[in-house]
Amino acid sequence: MVQAPSFARSTSFAPARPPAGAPPVRINLYSDTQTRPTPAMKDAMMRAEMGDEQHGDDPTVHLLCDRMAALMGKEAAMFLPSGTMCNVIAILTHCQKGDEVLAHETSHILHSEGGTHAALTGVQILPLKGERGLFTADDVRAAIRPRTRYAPPQKLLEVEQTANIGGGVVWPLEQLKAVTAVAREQGWNTHMDGARLMNACVAAGIAPAEMVADFDSVWLDFTKGLGAPLGAVLCGSAEFIGQAWRWKQRLGGSMRQAGMVAAGCIHSLDHHVERLAEDHANAKALARGLRQIEGVVVEEPDTNLVFFDIKGTGVSVEELQKRLMAQGIMVSGLGGRVRACTHLDVTAAMIPEAVSAIREALAA
Ligand SMILES: *Cc1c(COP(=O)(O)O)cnc(C)c1O
Repeated sequence: MVQAPSFARSTSFAPARPPAGAPPVRINLYSDTQTRPTPAMKDAMMRAEMGDEQHGDDPTVHLLCDRMAALMGKEAAMFLPSGTMCNVIAILTHCQKGDEVLAHETSHILHSEGGTHAALTGVQILPLKGERGLFTADDVRAAIRPRTRYAPPQKLLEVEQTANIGGGVVWPLEQLKAVTAVAREQGWNTHMDGARLMNACVAAGIAPAEMVADFDSVWLDFTKGLGAPLGAVLCGSAEFIGQAWRWKQRLGGSMRQAGMVAAGCIHSLDHHVERLAEDHANAKALARGLRQIEGVVVEEPDTNLVFFDIKGTGVSVEELQKRLMAQGIMVSGLGGRVRACTHLDVTAAMIPEAVSAIREALAA
């Protein structure tokens, strides 16, 4: 059988749902999107003051947006239902149809947004190569097109912090500065997909405002490691957010009593940011354990995503997933590799248990 190129499978998080008859999931390393709101978070949500968000008078949404704008060092912020909608609205606001966006070849906007940029934004995405989801200033420079009537107008440079398929890798601040400097030279705007931005900030010990200082727009997802049930916040200049509101309305992203959900996000900012360090420590412990298994090649995790290659064991990713599922353990398959993700619902005590289960499943 011909081996499919890795990107053909880069978005197959299969199977997302345990098959009928599978035991309940005990250890969920599938994704940090699967965290459940804690009882304290639910309490905060129950107590939320609410208004009509679309009408501009939900006090809890205002509180969340004010906090996020301050945290990111931007003038304004906008609450949205999902991170995908943040990317779509940011691109619609920065670009015209036919413009080109430069992004890494493993980026979420290329692989995991259902072709939305062909279907809705009308931009073309130029995939940049580079190790572990990162590219350099030279890579960006090499991709600059001549300003002729033949070439698509280049408008936006997009960076994912952390780089998900790259391995949850943290972009070093210096490298962010170097690539955004090229964009500025060219008169392009810059956008950060900050789905896991707080993981990067905690791992690097750098404040969010400093990390995103050179970006015109940035968003943070509350449904990944932060553990809220819904919501993402897009930040930028007052003018940018003002224009973005038109697209929020057009796409149906304007909400009503969204304060209930925003309260969960505020709770996560207060209680779930510093603890991301525990997820990173658990990921490192998991990587150390997996490295002891013969035939397994483990990438050293920067944050909460542990990618490992099991080709040397002769067991396929799908077969491993099936064997683990039979023991109530979930992992995902991404780009021909296995991904195990640590988060709020994964304790340190679960790590050795997961390692033994994976060792047995690979030996079986
Ligand atoms: C999850 C994710 C998104 C999309 O966020 P949703 O809230 O699931 O729509 C975008 N980019 C990256 C890197 C992600 O991991």
